[in-house]
Amino acid sequence: MSGFPSLRCFLPRCTIGLCFLAYPLLAQEPLLENEQQTQAQSFAQCVVGLQQKALSAGISTNTVETILGQARYLAKILEYDRNQPEFVQTFPGYFSARVNDWRITKGREMLAKHKDFLAKLTQEYGVPGHYLVAFWGLETNFGNYIGKMPIIDSLTTLACDERRSKFFSAELMQALRLLERENLAVSDMVGSWAGAMGHAQFMPTAYLTYARDGDGDGKMDLWNSELDALASAANFLKALGWQAGFRWGREVLIPNNFDYQLAGKSNVQALSFWREKGITEVGNIALNNSDLPAALVVPAGHTGPAFLIYHNFEVILRWNNSEYYGIAVGQLADQIAGRGPLSKPLPDLPQYTLLEMQEFQQKLNDLGFDVGKPDGILGPATRQGVRAFQASKRLIADGYPSKETVESVMSETSTDTAL
Ligand code: CA
Repeated sequence: MSGFPSLRCFLPRCTIGLCFLAYPLLAQEPLLENEQQTQAQSFAQCVVGLQQKALSAGISTNTVETILGQARYLAKILEYDRNQPEFVQTFPGYFSARVNDWRITKGREMLAKHKDFLAKLTQEYGVPGHYLVAFWGLETNFGNYIGKMPIIDSLTTLACDERRSKFFSAELMQALRLLERENLAVSDMVGSWAGAMGHAQFMPTAYLTYARDGDGDGKMDLWNSELDALASAANFLKALGWQAGFRWGREVLIPNNFDYQLAGKSNVQALSFWREKGITEVGNIALNNSDLPAALVVPAGHTGPAFLIYHNFEVILRWNNSEYYGIAVGQLADQIAGRGPLSKPLPDLPQYTLLEMQEFQQKLNDLGFDVGKPDGILGPATRQGVRAFQASKRLIADGYPSKETVESVMSETSTDTAL
């Protein structure tokens, strides 16, 4: 399981559209002439090393010389890689930008357009068509935005950069194998700046391993064939562990005085446990009294929507490791299939800068509530630390840094620890 996430998207919440639209370029100091020379030399040296690696990995001499040998250093790829968003993304902001009327309407059109083919895929791979369409819509707006970066140049640049050299070197080798196997023109091999390709944004390893020829023309073309892309997504999800016949999760209602310390992805309990705690389906319908494993997540805190998540939610996170993404896929799929929107409006939450979030995290660490490295990301570790702090102050322990919680944390003195 742990080997899967890196096959596709190595940056949480970093689908192609998001990377380009939400990460404005930072101005970079132009390099001096001698710095440029040094950089060119070190890139050329790195390419020679990669060529040797490719030869020993069984890539043909012709590909190694004519394709890898011609790879260009693209400074802008590293600019994309270094960019940080200024603000911490909130669930309402993330969700409303993605699960929108346009995507739902277009998704329903695509579901109807490919109805028979999707039914065949569901039979073969166990993944219902509305999920496949939802992934497609979130990744590339149904193929409207598949990226134009030259993949070999991008991957070579990233492989020659120290930050994630090992991962990108391996993906570069796979991209070269893919070029050879599919007999692709290097100019046709385009995608996101980080190497994800086609309608469903597969990294080279995922493409090589999981792509399928959906339309039966003898090629696996994830750029130009919608059927190939849908079949490949179904095959990938099955390989990631999709459980046929089960949903991703569902929105639920939480009773008053609920103990929010029970929330969080890691507290997996039987559905009957949540039923006993008074949680119901939307519309106050009782949950099944079953032993189905489920966890509760409240991504916008107790004033926002709550979700019970099942095994297939974890499978979605193996595609892209972000809870927000998982909920967006699930909700978009549900609404494409004809279900209604969220039961209540999304709350208006405070907007924190990355720096503010890092200071908040550092302060929690100083106070003895371990949230891991202060990275500005509101992930499971931060939520766990926030929950523990809230519980110690008898605040509602929903793990969300509300204004009240942040003020309470920041007004503590570090010597006044809870330990
Ligand atoms: Ca094909």
